[in-house]
Amino acid sequence: MMEIKDLIRENIKSLEAYSSARDEFKAMSSEFVFIDANENPFDTGLNRYPDPQQNLVKEALSKMKGISKEQILLGNGSDEVLDLIFRVFCEPREDNVIVLPPTYGMYEVLANTNAIELVKIPLVENFQPNIKEVVKVQDAKTKVLFLCSPNNPTANSFDASSIETLLKEFNGIVVIDEAYIDFSIEDSWLGRLDEFPNLIVTQTLSKAYGLAAIRLGICYASKEIISILNKIKPPYNVNQLTQDVALKALLNRDEVNNQITAITSERNQLIKDLEKLDIVDKVYASDANFLLVKVDNANLRYEQLLNNGIVVRNRSNQMLCENCLRFTIGTKEDNEKLITTLKLI
Ligand SMILES: *Cc1c(COP(=O)(O)O)cnc(C)c1O
Repeated sequence: MMEIKDLIRENIKSLEAYSSARDEFKAMSSEFVFIDANENPFDTGLNRYPDPQQNLVKEALSKMKGISKEQILLGNGSDEVLDLIFRVFCEPREDNVIVLPPTYGMYEVLANTNAIELVKIPLVENFQPNIKEVVKVQDAKTKVLFLCSPNNPTANSFDASSIETLLKEFNGIVVIDEAYIDFSIEDSWLGRLDEFPNLIVTQTLSKAYGLAAIRLGICYASKEIISILNKIKPPYNVNQLTQDVALKALLNRDEVNNQITAITSERNQLIKDLEKLDIVDKVYASDANFLLVKVDNANLRYEQLLNNGIVVRNRSNQMLCENCLRFTIGTKEDNEKLITTLKLI
């Protein structure tokens, strides 16, 4: 049986979390005089340090997802959450992690900045995980497996049965990055957290919620994993402005839900329009708010689009993505401009 505590770095195990002024005295009651944190006393609504545990945001998430607050950690974007995962489980210059390219580039960036070896097991046909190979290459130093589903840039979700097998067969932490889950027809793995003690699910307000600028990433896991991540997070990693905007967004989801419906219906229209074009070889199935599209000559079409004021992502240098461009679903007008321009060129 795999034990989570055996996966944690020795120095992290013995670490005491930094205790901030706001940790030591939480009750922000107006009856108290607060002269403990060297803040400016004149009230502007922002003169006090923010809640280091973001309790109001977590309460809203907890209600919405049916997951206890002790199983939630918030970060300055998912990128900070992913970095915390590296720093808790991966010993620099010793451990390794597995990624399944083509996938999100930040896993590699974070592996490099943390001096962790990155083992790449390419996706197989239909952009699904190569389960046998993952199970075969893992060794005693393999600490984390990153699964991005729906996957960026391929846009598909991994088969639930494959993910389940990996959760059972992989002897380490399995991170499922669900940045695009709000656009997906698949169920989130949040509902399965209690079954898999090695599961970490990350989500974000950067995509469907339309709040990329506030930087709010969410990590869901067992209480045990969350309490360790909590030990090393910077005390005030989510600022007050972000907490306020996030709370408001989580309590008013109608607008976001309408936008998700609009984006997915625009996506389906864009697929049809793209498939009619001669320069398009293939539009891959999408379970997200973007399309991976194989064209006749990606570098040429990328330049031509740019010259016409349309910025897309050229993914043609990525494994299995030869001559592929990635288009984010824009507004109806954006998408029409894309199609008109592609017809012109
Ligand atoms: C966009 C994206 C994120 C979001 O990262 P944030 O730091 O939360 O903005 C995470 N994972 C994937 C796969 C993404 O494409």
